[in-house]
Amino acid sequence: MKVCVAGGDGYCGWATALHLSRRGHQVAIADNFARRQWDYELGVQTLTPIRPMAERLRAWKQLTGESIELLAGDLTDYEFISSVVQSFAPDAVVHFAEQRAAPYSMIDRKHAVFTQVNNVVGTLNLLFALREFRPECHLVKLGTMGEYGTPNIDIEEGYIEVEHNGRKDVLPFPKQPGSFYHLSKVHDSHNIMFACKIWGLRATDLNQGVVYGTMTDEVALDEALINRFDYDEVFGTVLNRFCAQAAVGHPLTVYGKGGQTRGYLDIRDTVRCVELACLKPARPGECRVFNQFTEQFTVLELARMVQAAGRHMNLHVEIEHFPDPRVEAEEHYYNARHSKLVELGLEPHLLSESLLDSLLNIAIRYQDRIERSLFLPKVNWRNPRNERRPKVMTQATAGAPYEAPFETGAVSAKGNGSFKQGE
Ligand code: NAD
Repeated sequence: MKVCVAGGDGYCGWATALHLSRRGHQVAIADNFARRQWDYELGVQTLTPIRPMAERLRAWKQLTGESIELLAGDLTDYEFISSVVQSFAPDAVVHFAEQRAAPYSMIDRKHAVFTQVNNVVGTLNLLFALREFRPECHLVKLGTMGEYGTPNIDIEEGYIEVEHNGRKDVLPFPKQPGSFYHLSKVHDSHNIMFACKIWGLRATDLNQGVVYGTMTDEVALDEALINRFDYDEVFGTVLNRFCAQAAVGHPLTVYGKGGQTRGYLDIRDTVRCVELACLKPARPGECRVFNQFTEQFTVLELARMVQAAGRHMNLHVEIEHFPDPRVEAEEHYYNARHSKLVELGLEPHLLSESLLDSLLNIAIRYQDRIERSLFLPKVNWRNPRNERRPKVMTQATAGAPYEAPFETGAVSAKGNGSFKQGE
């Protein structure tokens, strides 16, 4: 199968491109490397020293004999994405190419507008290019579980049967996203559903949970293939960030009470889920929705698991609670269905102590690259503009008590700590 991986220089995209290539698919990566620029903009870097794309692809070819084509460009440029669809003629496009950090979208107006334009326009351009040049191609689009929010009812996979005033219908599940980033994903979902309806396109919207881990079988082949491991408050997803904190003796930064429950999955399952969706495509005109996660945890549960794993490795791991910079319920009901990918053949890698050990070992190995000031939350949802320069980190670095970088008035800074995912 010919698969174009849009966003293939990123965390999920790189691992997926390698996995699909190893499994015999013909793969092209489309990326504008914007993510590397956003790291420069924020003064952050991945814990792991990722290589330039040309070097990554050279190493892959040397190790496996497989070539991955690179198509450098921006999905918001219609000329670019339409030429990709025409020249590569994919059977499937896996679309990861978006700005994916909720905190980034909440920095200020400029970042909110950028996130929505980048994500919504990129996806719209792709939909038009598919309609015009490759209508039979299957769009596999990465959405997020964050589109649903945290309703006080069970979350279904995309659609729910509703009975109202004696009549019944199956409708899109209500969306209550929690950031301008999550809203961009909801807008995408609506646009995709509409394009399938009016043009007969075929799409799978993968509402992914928070991803952890960095190693897949392919990435593990060589250091030159190493994947991203983000630990900072903007891009770091919660479990990876906790492991980085534990590795350098920084308290695990739990936001509020830590009762925020979310769906999680190992990056080895991300790549497998995407492959399963590609192998069994949606029908023409169908917009499928799969909830792509394997387990759900509260943030505090994750913190305690990292603490326990750290203890076995003689790491002293403390948990500290911070005022929640996000506007969200700190404890709530959460029960999301996630059976469709299992029905397609997914065999989940569940979170285990050995995986936590290996994540902690990676964090320890690269601990010299950790900048502690990047751990603390500086983007407050309540402010229309956030200053991201560190205020208090010198003290934190020295192991002194923390001072919250902003006031929320909602929660005391001490407690049983929990953290928030960066996605
Ligand atoms: P990432 O930032 O590591 O990768 C995104 C890639 O897309 C980057 O390489 C970036 O340069 C590229 N990109 C962004 N905008 C682009 C554009 N306009 N044109 C071309 N390339 C562009 O992100 P990730 O963690 O790999 O996430 C990938 C996708 O999965 C995102 O859509 C994200 O919303 C979704 N997702 C991720 C997680 C997670 O935990 N990482 C969870 C749920 C959903």
